[in-house]
Amino acid sequence: MAELIIDLELDYDGPVKDYCGSCTRCLDACPTGAIVEPYLVDGSRCISYYTIELRDAIPQSEKGKFEDWAFGCDICQDVCPWNRFSKPTTVAEFAPNKEGLDLSIEDWEEMTEEVFGRVFTKSALKRAGFDGLKRNISFIKK
Ligand code: SF4
Ligand code: SF4
Repeated sequence: MAELIIDLELDYDGPVKDYCGSCTRCLDACPTGAIVEPYLVDGSRCISYYTIELRDAIPQSEKGKFEDWAFGCDICQDVCPWNRFSKPTTVAEFAPNKEGLDLSIEDWEEMTEEVFGRVFTKSALKRAGFDGLKRNISFIKK
């Protein structure tokens, strides 16, 4: 949630309608139990927080729960039935990084800081940084 304090008259939206009904797929699928109740995510338990924002070590209590997610997590998005109506973006700037997509597991595990800087020069992966990405990969290794 965020707030803007500005002096402009805005043509704002109304509240979003509730389309969930009796569905609980995202709550059931979240591997860390971060969706603590309908419409409420405890961000401090979310894989996206652990792998992108957390600067310290990932708690050992979460070991084995990340299902190979090394930067962010889309599980709750993947299971949501409404997302089958989504369409790939046509905005070129949001297109996947081809070189990043082609990396093998070995490439990720053996990546040097130089390769990280070159391949992900304009990527959101820089938010975690090279050390953060290495920490995440090491954490999800079996
Ligand atoms: S992004 Fe992953 S960890 Fe975070 S709430 Fe969704 S399923 Fe849970
Ligand atoms: S999976 Fe989608 S439709 Fe189902 S409860 Fe979660 S947000 Fe709602």
